[in-house]
Amino acid sequence: MATTSVVPANRRRAANAAEELEFETTEGVKAIASFEEMGIKDDLLRGIYQYGFEKPSAIQQRAVTPIIQGRDVIAQAQSGTGKTSMIALTVCQFVDTSKREVQALILSPTRELASQTEKVILAIGDFINIQAHACIGGKSVGEDIRKLEYGVHVVSGTPGRVCDMIKRRTLRTRDIKMLVLDESDEMLSRGFKDQIYDVYRYLPPDLQVVLISATLPHEILEMTNKFMTDPIRILVKRDELTLEGIKQFFVAVEREEWKFDTLCDLYDTLTITQAVIFCNTKRKVDWLTEKMRNNNFTVSAMHGDMPQRERDAIMAEFRSGTTRVLITTDVWARGLDVQQASCFSCPLPLFYFLS
Ligand code: AMP
Repeated sequence: MATTSVVPANRRRAANAAEELEFETTEGVKAIASFEEMGIKDDLLRGIYQYGFEKPSAIQQRAVTPIIQGRDVIAQAQSGTGKTSMIALTVCQFVDTSKREVQALILSPTRELASQTEKVILAIGDFINIQAHACIGGKSVGEDIRKLEYGVHVVSGTPGRVCDMIKRRTLRTRDIKMLVLDESDEMLSRGFKDQIYDVYRYLPPDLQVVLISATLPHEILEMTNKFMTDPIRILVKRDELTLEGIKQFFVAVEREEWKFDTLCDLYDTLTITQAVIFCNTKRKVDWLTEKMRNNNFTVSAMHGDMPQRERDAIMAEFRSGTTRVLITTDVWARGLDVQQASCFSCPLPLFYFLS
């Protein structure tokens, strides 16, 4: 799988913060270089290969085995490391599909990431008939109730909606044995702390917890102390981040007002069928959208204040190729896997237009 990023994916400040708080990987954690050696069930291996993966990424090499063995794991890893697929893979290995009860619960900070995780689980778990459901805000409650009552093995959701479903007793927690907190630092920064603690209170005591976070601030460490037992720590260093096939380029633009012209130069020089451009403010999304439209680009724009229906419509428009550029804030940036989620001809270039 190849993705091309022009300008690095990780914002400098976030990366620096991560560096300050880095911890060491627990001694004895081994890197296992092939999926076969991990003891993954055959039908799941078929799903992984069909999905296009040949070799595990750095985080997958280190984290899959301890998670499959039932250990609590804290992984310091960011988007782009293969963490979503790592979650999908371990959840698929872990779940007993003969029992139609929720056995694994994944909480994510954004609806897009929660849906993305659900999609990867369904794709990788194609041959094991896994049933997963994305329980996210902005979608019909009725549909959630119908799906959950029918019975699924895995729920991937945002904390608010999941909490709501648990309190209505539609999401039965009795058989949940694994809780994954993806992008925990983001969940906390988006104010989900109370809901996460609330959800946790409803889960059975012998719970396995996997926590993924790009940074490890005090609040995360507090959470790990409360929720986890003797966790294994896995740090994926930044020089191990890049998956084979992903090329990253950095264009240092000295002045803000030169950035738009630089982007146009890239468009003139490269053949770019479709691309996603990330901005770090909604204002910048609006500004760049207008600027590109004035320059005859067909552009879609999306940010978190838009209703879910509109967000879905814009994604559909972009997926179908009606628009060639998607300009967005990090609603979309975190964890979104465009090639897998849809029918894009890869590689899809990602631009980071950051100030
Ligand atoms: P993630 O961090 O899970 O969002 O993954 C980032 C990108 O890497 C996605 O496009 C994944 O499909 C891809 N990816 C994840 N694991 C692997 C792997 N083992 N081999 C090749 N590509 C991968």
